[in-house]
Amino acid sequence: MLQTFDPRNKDIKVYAGGNILHRDEAAISVFDSVVQGGDAVWEGLRLYKHGIICLSDHLKRLHESAHTLCFKDVPGKQEIRAALKQVLDANGMKEDVHIRLTLTRGVKITSGMDPRLNQSGCTLIIVPEYKAPVYDNEKGIRIISSSQRRNNPQFLDSKIHHNNLLNNILAKIESNVAGVDAALMLDENGFASELNGTNIFMIKNNIVMTPHPHNCLPGITRKHVMTLCSENNIVVQESNISLSQLYNADAVFCTGTMGELTSIIEIDGRSISLASRHELFVKVQEAFRNSLPRVCEQI
Ligand code: PMP
Repeated sequence: MLQTFDPRNKDIKVYAGGNILHRDEAAISVFDSVVQGGDAVWEGLRLYKHGIICLSDHLKRLHESAHTLCFKDVPGKQEIRAALKQVLDANGMKEDVHIRLTLTRGVKITSGMDPRLNQSGCTLIIVPEYKAPVYDNEKGIRIISSSQRRNNPQFLDSKIHHNNLLNNILAKIESNVAGVDAALMLDENGFASELNGTNIFMIKNNIVMTPHPHNCLPGITRKHVMTLCSENNIVVQESNISLSQLYNADAVFCTGTMGELTSIIEIDGRSISLASRHELFVKVQEAFRNSLPRVCEQI
C-alpha cells in the first residue's frame, strides 16, 4: 500500500510558526531543532464531520511528550486549538482530513545539541490534508515481523511521541523490501510490540488481546478500542503475545488515527482469516463508528 497524491491537497494552506501560508510557501528556519536533531513531538489527528477525534487526549499526549523533553514556552491547549481552527477554516475543511501537528523545541541561536540554545520558544506546525483512512479494510493488510526492535524505556521511551522515527522507518523499509504493507516490531524479548505506525490486537477464543504497552506507543485509538470492548462486554486484556500466537489467532487487526481499525490478513507468509468477518471485530468496528459523535470534539 503506497499513498498517492490527492489533487484536493494541491493548494492547501498550512500553519507554520504562527503564519498561515500556501503549502509551497510555508517554511521553517534551518536553525529549527527539528532540522538539527529531530527534536520535536507530534500528533496525527483526524477530522470527522463531528469534529476532531479524541482531541483532548492528543493534546494531553503532546504536552506530556514536550514536558518529558523539557520544552520551554510550550503553547497552551487553547492556543493550539485556536491554531487548528484557524488553519482548518482557512482551507474550508470539514471532514475526511488528516492533520499532522508538530511541535518543535524551536529555533536555536547557533547549531548545537544543547536545549539552552533554544531561546525563542517552540515552533508549531500544522499540516491538514484531505486523506481517507489509509488502509483498505475490506481487503486488509499483509505484514512481516521486522528485525528492528521497538524501543524499550532503557533506550528511548516509546511513550514519548517524538520525531526520531528512524527505527520505525527502518522497519517500514523492511516491509517495503518484502513487498507487504507494514512491519511488526517486537520487544527485546521477542514478544509483539506494535506495527511501525499502528498498534496491534488479536482475537482468540472470543478474547481480544493487545501487547502490554512497555515498548509501544500507547495509541489513543488503542485505548478507545479497549474502552469500546469493555462497554460492549467483550473481554479485552493486555498480554505478552508471541509470533506463534499471532499466526494462529482467529483474527488480527491494527489501530491508529491514520487508518482506524484494519484487518491483518497475513503475517510472515502465514495467512489469517479476515478480521472484518469475525463477529467481535464487526462489533467493535460498529461501536467505533457509533462512538464518533461522542468522541469527536468541535474546535
Ligand atoms: N504506534 C505508532 C508508532 C504510531 O506512530 C502511531 C500513530 N502516531 C500509533 C501507534 C497509533 O496511535 P494513535 O492511535 O494515537 O493514532
